[in-house]
Amino acid sequence: MKNPHANAVAQLEKVAQLLRKEYQGQEKSFDAIIDRLKEPDVVHQDKLAITMDDGSTQKFQAYRSQHNNARGPYKGGIRFHPNVSLDEVKALSTWMTWKCAVTGIPYGGGKGGVVVDPKKLSKKELEKLSRAYVDFLGDHIGAWVDVPAPDVNTTGEIMSWMVDQYQKNLSKKGLIQENPLAAFTGKPIALGGSEGRSEATGLGGVMVLEKLVEKMGFQNKNQVTIAVQGFGNVGYWFAKHASDRGYKVVAISDSKGGIFVEKGVNVKQALQYKKEQDSLPKLDAKTISNEELLELDVDILVPAALENVIHQDNATKIKAKAIIEMANGPLTPEADEILAKKGTILVPDILSNSGGVTVSYFEWVQNLQGYYWSHQEVITKLQPLMETAFAQMWAMKDKHKVDGRMATYMTAVKRVVDVMILRGDF
Ligand code: NAD
Repeated sequence: MKNPHANAVAQLEKVAQLLRKEYQGQEKSFDAIIDRLKEPDVVHQDKLAITMDDGSTQKFQAYRSQHNNARGPYKGGIRFHPNVSLDEVKALSTWMTWKCAVTGIPYGGGKGGVVVDPKKLSKKELEKLSRAYVDFLGDHIGAWVDVPAPDVNTTGEIMSWMVDQYQKNLSKKGLIQENPLAAFTGKPIALGGSEGRSEATGLGGVMVLEKLVEKMGFQNKNQVTIAVQGFGNVGYWFAKHASDRGYKVVAISDSKGGIFVEKGVNVKQALQYKKEQDSLPKLDAKTISNEELLELDVDILVPAALENVIHQDNATKIKAKAIIEMANGPLTPEADEILAKKGTILVPDILSNSGGVTVSYFEWVQNLQGYYWSHQEVITKLQPLMETAFAQMWAMKDKHKVDGRMATYMTAVKRVVDVMILRGDF
């Protein structure tokens, strides 16, 4: 199996083959730009030495991949995980370039990580590691340079330590006029975070759902049946907003399994029950496995838990008419091919779950202007961005007769290529 960066490059080459005909007379520039986009602009890497609570010193491998900043500062999370690797951060930073381009927010792509199991660190050690990460990046981050955010195992608390360290480092250099808050997103609201961030990814997905069902020709929302895999941050908010808007969410699940309610799950009650009982409510519901949920005969399937849950062994059994990918990478490339042949409509992750990074962008805008928006203002501003991104993807899909994933990538790559041509930077 290919490494993730090789996958990202192969995907770019596929997209470029189809997109090239839009650049007649500019083929040389186009080819040079595509070549450049196969590798990040720069990858920073170092070993961070931390004094542990027992007085010993441990070293942790750290990375920051800055893929492309033609459209704006690099943007992307920092993950703390034992499986972080150079190829993973390079691939994830490439996908961030495309994700930011899809919604049109003025950022490029970046991603960082530290090879560490944070569960094995004390809180003090975790704080030291977070501050050391900021020291390692020095001038390579900043509001107009590269704006990190939380990712796997990194939190608002970690972002707070990072902002504090960044500000201390600026002061040491006499750069007190810089804006430290706008250098990180995903901060707690008390420290410049944005209203609406926690629900933004799920809600953005429902904004996409609304436009998709219009295209699919449904007349009544309450006829549209939906199954949602995963009942964490993304899955819960997707299910809640979908059912609040009148869609019939007939199945939900978490890591322990799922439930099916033909007349529609009461999502709010299910959350309450899950909080109290640590499981989904069985009353009035049929218990189903996660595999069964994926294979339900519903209109829309929403994988919102893990990667690679739809693969070559179960793709043929998927009966949903459309899939909205809310998790990152829930379909393997093999499943993608099988479902495209079957005619299943697909809205890919970089479009459907981009509500989160879009509200991160709003957080940055609010930090830069020092003026904070209400929850309603955030939601109102999110909607047109999600709807426009969907409409542009659909137009590309119609124009080139390609599937949703290819149309989304073509839209994104085209946006980046066009800006690089304008800049003459290739
Ligand atoms: P989370 O940890 O809050 O929730 C994950 C959910 O998946 C939980 O309900 C868990 O029980 C469930 N789950 C775990 N294993 C499962 C399994 N085998 N089968 C079914 N369900 C299982 O995580 P999240 O923030 O909701 O993220 C979910 C996905 O969305 C991830 O792929 C993440 O990368 C992606 N994503 C999240 C955001 C965001 O803003 N949180 C943004 C973009 C993408």
